[in-house]
Amino acid sequence: MHIPNIRFGFATNSSSTHSIIVIKPDENIRDKIEEDYFGWEEFVLRSPSLKLDYLNSLINLSLKSDYNFSESFTQSIINSLYNSNITNILDIDHNSSISIPKEYGYNNPSIELIKDLMKFVLREDIVILGGNDNIEFEKFTDRKRFKFPLNFSNLKIDNNYIHYYKHLKYNPSIYARYETKYDYWTLFSSYPIPVKFQLDLKHYPDLNKIYLPDTPELVDLKITDYCDKECNFCYQGSSKKGKHAEENTIYNILWVLKELKVFEVALGGGEPTTHPHFKKILKNVVNYGMVPNFTTSRLDWMYEDPEIFDYVGGIGYTCTSNLDTKILDKILKDFNYFNTKLTIQIPMGCVTRNEFEYIVKYAKDRYLNILLLGFKKDGRAHKFNPIDYHWWCDIIEKNKIYYFGVDTSMLYEYLPILELKSDSVFFSSPEGSRSMYIDAIEQFIAPASYNIKNKYYMNEIKCPMKMVDFYIEKFNEFQNDALIKYKETLFLPLLGNNYEFVL
Ligand code: SF4
Repeated sequence: MHIPNIRFGFATNSSSTHSIIVIKPDENIRDKIEEDYFGWEEFVLRSPSLKLDYLNSLINLSLKSDYNFSESFTQSIINSLYNSNITNILDIDHNSSISIPKEYGYNNPSIELIKDLMKFVLREDIVILGGNDNIEFEKFTDRKRFKFPLNFSNLKIDNNYIHYYKHLKYNPSIYARYETKYDYWTLFSSYPIPVKFQLDLKHYPDLNKIYLPDTPELVDLKITDYCDKECNFCYQGSSKKGKHAEENTIYNILWVLKELKVFEVALGGGEPTTHPHFKKILKNVVNYGMVPNFTTSRLDWMYEDPEIFDYVGGIGYTCTSNLDTKILDKILKDFNYFNTKLTIQIPMGCVTRNEFEYIVKYAKDRYLNILLLGFKKDGRAHKFNPIDYHWWCDIIEKNKIYYFGVDTSMLYEYLPILELKSDSVFFSSPEGSRSMYIDAIEQFIAPASYNIKNKYYMNEIKCPMKMVDFYIEKFNEFQNDALIKYKETLFLPLLGNNYEFVL
């Protein structure tokens, strides 16, 4: 059976579709353009001058509409890229426009990324196609299409999310960060679709090429060891006797993370919302241009101070029983936008099969994201006898959950199954290669919260700049260890931490 084309949902409009494609260099494809407009009508751009016209027109539109730059300022930026006056800027159909990402930490467009894009489109084998979604390019339709299984239909942008926009406290931008060691870009978008991906504009596809960042993209920051739940499966061993991290220690760490160009900070504990300065910590993360997320097992903070919600990118709510879903139910009714940032986290090995199925169905019925956390045998969990959870995949499939996340430990445990069912583009790297764990109470850094054998204490380092160097040096060590592990286990070049799967 052959299904040549499929579209989900009703058609409410028609629009232009422009594509940048890679062809064989000897392919005989010529320029074809009939209008002074990159819009709805079919066009093919192969010659360097036309491809640059197209790129300049895209840049021009983005600088004016996304950055509010004036006509003359936009023109002078484009001229400066060429050291000459560029006049052939045409209109681009708005449906095919792009946003030029910002330089990390600034409100300016990333000029270096634009320069790399220029070099990329000038490649002999790059062709730009224009047209609309009512036509097909006969010349290209019988070719093998590239595989890009991003299921955006599951990344919901509902009305609540759009209406909520005005309350957002962090900067809703797309940031670009250049990774010097492996020569590629990391792009991170915080709103409306939170997404992070690696972009290589220089090298030809090579499955063996490794893409690892210069500094962590994400930091897992433990700010308290206090938690009054005292679960007997707590791998952190948190309890009512647990201490909160010193406020200034946390702010110093955040400053260093900003210097390292970290995108996201996941606050954890213990129960992070019990830290007496929790909201101030969130504000500091935001002020440094990063996005704070956190994991919690309680939701009463939402009634005490709903503004906390405005500062965070994502909230992971730990669910182990039906009772937890009932608490969540009330919040979802009282705050109808709460679902927009919520992920239900299920610690595997701590929930029965029935509870798991109940929570999964609950999440599915409400279109909530699900993240499965593998069992970790540290802390109090050392003495805990985990519930066998080999049935998880059957339940996920039976309930037709097509989109969910797993953490690295779950990925390691079930790699063969996940490799079969999903695509490696969704897998990230072993822990310690893209992210880092910081315990602000004990003041040490390690590859991950459940991998603290190789930990390094930092309480002796007083100078902030030395702290930056220290983090970079240790992060390099974590990456090297992760690479050795990768080679030993023959994992795919891209392996996962906390990422989504399409089954
Ligand atoms: S597992 Fe979570 S909720 Fe339970 S004691 Fe530990 S931090 Fe608290």
